[in-house]
Amino acid sequence: MVIGPAAPVRPHLPLRPLWFCRVCAAPWPCATARLALLAEYANDRVALSVYLCAVLHEATADLYRLHPDDGPDPAALFARFLAWVPHRQPDAWPAPFRGGGGSDGQVSPPDR
Ligand SMILES: [Zn+2]
Repeated sequence: MVIGPAAPVRPHLPLRPLWFCRVCAAPWPCATARLALLAEYANDRVALSVYLCAVLHEATADLYRLHPDDGPDPAALFARFLAWVPHRQPDAWPAPFRGGGGSDGQVSPPDR
């Protein structure tokens, strides 16, 4: 068995104005792109949300330009571009909210 050189890793970026992934053809951000974004913004989820808001704005304009009479559902666009981002980082919780909870007097983080 001959093993050739590894295929170059291609980033899962959007193909505009269709907003499909250039690699896997799934609606962008695809699962791989979401993981890459979470890793890239691991220490700054606010910056990730701000970035995705800008991307949502651009995607909405592109998709409505392509389909002016039958544009995408705004709720579906929100879910696709923003709703998947975790709201909080566990490390950002105040000390009383980290870990465990229960019989030692600690309280659980508020539900979001
Ligand atoms: Zn992809």
